[in-house]
Amino acid sequence: MLENSILIDQINALLPQTQCGQCSFQGCHPYAVAIAAGMADINQCPPGGEQGIRDLADLLGVAPKPLNSEFGLHKAPGVAFIIEQDCIGCVKCIAACPVDAIVGAAKFMHTVIASECTGCELCIAPCPVDCIIMMPLPVNNSIELRAQKSAQAKRRYDARCLRKEKEGAEKAEAAKRKRQALLNRQALKK
Ligand code: SF4
Ligand code: SF4
Ligand code: SF4
Repeated sequence: MLENSILIDQINALLPQTQCGQCSFQGCHPYAVAIAAGMADINQCPPGGEQGIRDLADLLGVAPKPLNSEFGLHKAPGVAFIIEQDCIGCVKCIAACPVDAIVGAAKFMHTVIASECTGCELCIAPCPVDCIIMMPLPVNNSIELRAQKSAQAKRRYDARCLRKEKEGAEKAEAAKRKRQALLNRQALKK
């Protein structure tokens, strides 16, 4: 069991942490779990591209294979950009961003923090006024930069998951207190 969790962590560390879901899993970690369990192939991650497949193949001691295009094509790196004068402040992009790279408040213009954006494109479809576009970034394939970017994305994604979990627990607690107050009021009326 411990060996399996070490392997999952090793696989996950090689994934880009874009959290885009193109591999058909909910994010990079679930894909790592599936690879470790032999339930998914190593060539399902378009953002990782051929280099990512080679890294996984080396780790697992298997032969590399071409990216499976059924899951998408590897693209040049990009960053999201909001055409601010068109933004209506609906906050739908904020809800969609897995790494909290968009700032803004309801009914106010939103902005992408370019240094935090992983280029996953998950914010584009929810925008009702199509004011989010992708801008190209210079290609830099250095191992150090890729590792640094994916570690940064993982930190932000994990922080977001923790925040969401905390918010969910607080909401459940508030609902419980409300229910209890209602029951207490009903009991007093009897
Ligand atoms: S970056 Fe790759 S592994 Fe992570 S969710 Fe996207 S396709 Fe899946
Ligand atoms: S801003 Fe958009 S493209 Fe960038 S990480 Fe967030 S959802 Fe993905
Ligand atoms: S989804 Fe589009 S319109 Fe809505 S806040 Fe984001 S950028 Fe603005």
